[in-house]
Parts: sequence; C-alpha cells; structure tokens
Amino acid sequence: MLKAAGFAVLAVAVAVVAGVGTAVRSEVVAVSQPVPTLTPTPAPRPKPIPVLKPTPIFRVEATRPKVVVANRLYSQGKVPAVPCALPGRPPLSKAELLSYARVMVKCLDQAWRPVVVAAKLKFRPVALVEVYDSRKPAATPRACEDPPKRAGAFYSDDKICINWPEYIGTFPIRDEATFRDAFAHEYGHHLQNLAGILDSYELGHRKKPTKAVQLEDERRLELQANCLGGAFLGANSVSFDLFGPKYLELQYVAKHQGDELSAPVIRDHGSGSSRARWTLAGLYQASPSACNTFTAPPIEVS
Ligand SMILES: [Zn+2]
Repeated sequence: MLKAAGFAVLAVAVAVVAGVGTAVRSEVVAVSQPVPTLTPTPAPRPKPIPVLKPTPIFRVEATRPKVVVANRLYSQGKVPAVPCALPGRPPLSKAELLSYARVMVKCLDQAWRPVVVAAKLKFRPVALVEVYDSRKPAATPRACEDPPKRAGAFYSDDKICINWPEYIGTFPIRDEATFRDAFAHEYGHHLQNLAGILDSYELGHRKKPTKAVQLEDERRLELQANCLGGAFLGANSVSFDLFGPKYLELQYVAKHQGDELSAPVIRDHGSGSSRARWTLAGLYQASPSACNTFTAPPIEVS
C-alpha cells in the first residue's frame, strides 16, 4: 500500500512537471524511493523556567495632593548658575558664619527666582538669616525662638535660623561643606513654602496616619529639601569650587548624616543612603526635576 501510494504520487508529479527538465525528474525519482522509517529524535525537554517573584508595582497614593506630586516647580529645567562671591575660606567664627550665610542666601535667591517665576509661582526672597546657640537658649534671638531640638538649622516663615556652633569646629573644610549642605537644604524648605508644598504637607492629607506613615511623609519632605539644595549647589559648582576636596567633602557629608547616626534615632529626615541618593541626584542634574520625592517608591525615601 505504501509503495502503490508512492507511485501514485510519482504519477501525479510527472503529469504536473512533464517536459520541465532533468532536475525536476531526478527530484521526482527520489520521491519514489521507500520512505525510511525514522526513529523520532526525542524532543529536548524544556528547561524549567525559574519562577520570578513579581516586582511590586509602586503606585502613588491617590490621596497624595497634586501640589506635591505634580508641582510646576519640577518642570522648569535647570537652576541657573549665578555669580556668587563667597568668602575665600571657610568661616571660623559666629560672625564669619553669619556673613557667609548672608552672602549665600542672596545667591540662592538670585538662582531660584527665575525658576520659581517660570513655574508661575510668586517669588519672595528669604526675609531674614539669623544665628543662635542651642547651648544658650536665653540668648536666642527673637526671630529664632523655640528652635527645634537637635537642629543644626531650621526654616520658618521666610526665615532661616542657624545653630552656629554646629558649623565651627576643628575641621573647617568639612564644617563648610556641612554648612553649605544644611543651608541649601533650609532654602529648599523656602522653595517648598513658595510652591505650596510645605503647607499642603504640614496641614496633612491623611485622616489618621500611623507613626510609620507620618515619618515617611516627613522624610519625603526633608529629602526633597536635600535634593533642591543639591540642585542649587550643582548648578553653581564653579562658584562653590566643587571639583576637588570641597566636592569630596560635600559627597561625604551627604552620605554621613543619616537618621541612623542620631541619638535617639528618629526616622524623620532619611537614612544616610537616602540622603545621599537625593542630594547627589540634585547635585548631578542641577534641576528640581530630579527632586520629586513624592512619587518615589518607599525604598528610596527610607
Ligand atoms: Zn529640613
């Protein structure tokens, strides 16, 4: 039956290809041969596909205010470089630190003004920069009264207050880097104030947050201030001479000020790695577009 079927196939083939040529005929003859029975090659067993745990998709909570998630401040491009005539050496006294801060705040105002205006927000310069000494509470200037505990500096109502002994120590280059980082951070809170982010967050957008959720919210706010500070410093790396030892000190400071190093540990400003992540993102990109901590997954604001 098989052979007969083979010839039948041949006949049909010849009828179709008659007169076409040798090549076709020899092909047809080959078809007429008994078809060898092939032992089927066992198909290779598919290797088991490793089961990967799905990466959880982070979704920004719908309750988070639009003013923090999609603020116009984020989409105005780079912070400009401005001429900034800082003192030529690190401050070594209370008076020197204060005059350093008052020069630096003018540079911050000048650099951020066009970004704030482009975002169609109303710009106000920082109204006052003052110093205090947390070891001498009775001598605290009125503008800085009731300073928060453990603070190196704080921002409140357009004012920046500096706990000056924190920045005058035995290692001036590091102290200067710590001060620049802290002061640019406090100015970051001023920007959050101008942009409506501070109010929105301080007034609270949650009904009954757990302590952990509350702390994460605070970290988002604080880490954003770090990033905005970094964006200013990155944009003005020439004025701030951030190329040699001063850059390395700033990088060191960014990494070594995490909540885990404070006593008692209060997780409200971010771990060393989170702080470095946001400060350096601002520094490298020199733009508030790097600073949307409110859409970042929790692991980045730890
Ligand atoms: Zn802060």
